[in-house]
Amino acid sequence: MIKKNTKIIATLGPASSSAHILKQMVHAGMNVVRLNFSHGKYSEFKDLIQKIRQVSLETGVPIAIMQDLQGPKIRIGEMPEQGITIKKGAKIILTTKNIIGNSKMFPVQYKKLPKEVKRGDIILIDDGTIELEVIYDRFQNIYCKVLKGGTVKTHKGINVPGVTISADPITTKDKKDAIFGIKNDVDYIALSFVKCANDIVRLKKLIAKHHSKAKVIAKIERPEAVRNLKNIMKVADGVMVARGDLGVEMPAETVPLTQKRIIHLANLYGKPVITATQILQSMVENATPTRAEISDAANAVFDHTDAMMLSNETAIGKYPVDAVKTLSKVASVVEKNLQKDHDLLPTQKNLNLPVSNATALNASKLAIDINADAIVAVTLTGFTAQQISRHRIYIPIIAITEDEKTKNQLALVWGINPIILHKIDIKNATQEVRNILIKKNLVQKGNKIVIVINASKDEKLINTISI
Ligand code: PGA
Ligand code: MN
Repeated sequence: MIKKNTKIIATLGPASSSAHILKQMVHAGMNVVRLNFSHGKYSEFKDLIQKIRQVSLETGVPIAIMQDLQGPKIRIGEMPEQGITIKKGAKIILTTKNIIGNSKMFPVQYKKLPKEVKRGDIILIDDGTIELEVIYDRFQNIYCKVLKGGTVKTHKGINVPGVTISADPITTKDKKDAIFGIKNDVDYIALSFVKCANDIVRLKKLIAKHHSKAKVIAKIERPEAVRNLKNIMKVADGVMVARGDLGVEMPAETVPLTQKRIIHLANLYGKPVITATQILQSMVENATPTRAEISDAANAVFDHTDAMMLSNETAIGKYPVDAVKTLSKVASVVEKNLQKDHDLLPTQKNLNLPVSNATALNASKLAIDINADAIVAVTLTGFTAQQISRHRIYIPIIAITEDEKTKNQLALVWGINPIILHKIDIKNATQEVRNILIKKNLVQKGNKIVIVINASKDEKLINTISI
């Protein structure tokens, strides 16, 4: 297995749902699986979840399961099997009536769309492949001129850049799906088309109500979310740079800068951040990626992303395992270069830093100063380990937790590897940690180790040991 700190997320689909491929992806460096609830049946997800847990057990590699809720994605309704081709200059009507599409009228599932668009707005279909301009709207119909033609097929996505869509980011389907996810013990739930912090707070309430410890990832894919980034960051457990929809909702050339801003802010807040979509797009069909894709992945690592996410590449692509291998290689090579400078990432300019954050910060500094071989976090919720990870210090981070869910969740977080499930007696913590490290063969004679222990709410300890 290639050594790397940046984590890899693979979206599962027909190309990657067998235990055999899952195992190969784990060996290639996959740390998290994403279950895309825009497609698929509950029975299939149930099977998959069982398979993943089994693969994790057999390989001994922690795997986090991330459920991705569809959110209020606006879609074309039913169309004839082969789709309908429209040409530039033609007139077509989008209707909220429940029809099957024809050469003049396409159904749209979102009932309020005619009310929310106005003359001159641009409507994009299928990630912007097809472009329409609104001429006028009346009752259930939107009359449009085709600016860029193409073939429109069933359930293709619709984006209306610059228009605030009032649909609730947590749809009825999302609620039902989230409850299914909770019952089947997913580790993360990602919410699509988040607009503001309150969307996250509401999902967290639903999760708490069902007694789950699943963490919430805010998918940043709307301009509103970019505007509300700080507040979203404060309440979410992690964020995703969802470049697919972001690049349609905002000019695509603004996405790279937005990516850097989101990653920087997430690092500052110590929240895991995922860089997603089209990262190795050409590998859906080809065995090797383009140079540009390699550069994009490398840049995400340079930006200090926690994780890179594969979508179609692993869900429906021809080379799911090779795609994971490619990202592992890129991460490993770029990180070797980054390791040369041992600077801590900047921390929030806040003189009144919470004790737990300051403890992690100073333990990281100490680890650099004594040139430690590893830094161990004894952590219940994963917070302490995460706060060490956020400084990106390239000293191996070992997390020890008694909570199975925390163990899985930390699989998403940069540089935390390995993760050990073990209950530590706080009074004897240092000795117990020493014993575990020796027993698991994680240390050698002469190693210097920094240990951070979140002993209780009021007691945080930093210790050093020599083996
Ligand atoms: P999606 O989200 O794949 O669910 O659309 C990611 C993105 O938009 O980039
Ligand atoms: Mn999206």
